[in-house]
Amino acid sequence: MNEGACAHIEAVDAIKHAKARECEECVKIHARWVHLRTCQTCGVTLCCDSSPNRHASKHARATTHPVIASAEPGERWLYCFPDDALAEY
Ligand SMILES: [Zn+2]
Ligand SMILES: [Zn+2]
Ligand SMILES: [Zn+2]
Repeated sequence: MNEGACAHIEAVDAIKHAKARECEECVKIHARWVHLRTCQTCGVTLCCDSSPNRHASKHARATTHPVIASAEPGERWLYCFPDDALAEY
């Protein structure tokens, strides 16, 4: 991964992509989301911090899974929550 990214991002060797274009938690509660992010530890796809329920950052805090990838078409970046680090790939 990119120079200057944190150790968590450097540890990602194969990007996990979204299995479905939906937030797994929003689907359960019939909520809407804005953007989708995929956890790079367990592969779950959840909604971003611009979404009302912010499931991706809640998941990161609850599980300490640090790194997400954007699941939006055309976006190729990783973000680490604990280090606030962003890296394109
Ligand atoms: Zn990190
Ligand atoms: Zn959600
Ligand atoms: Zn996870």
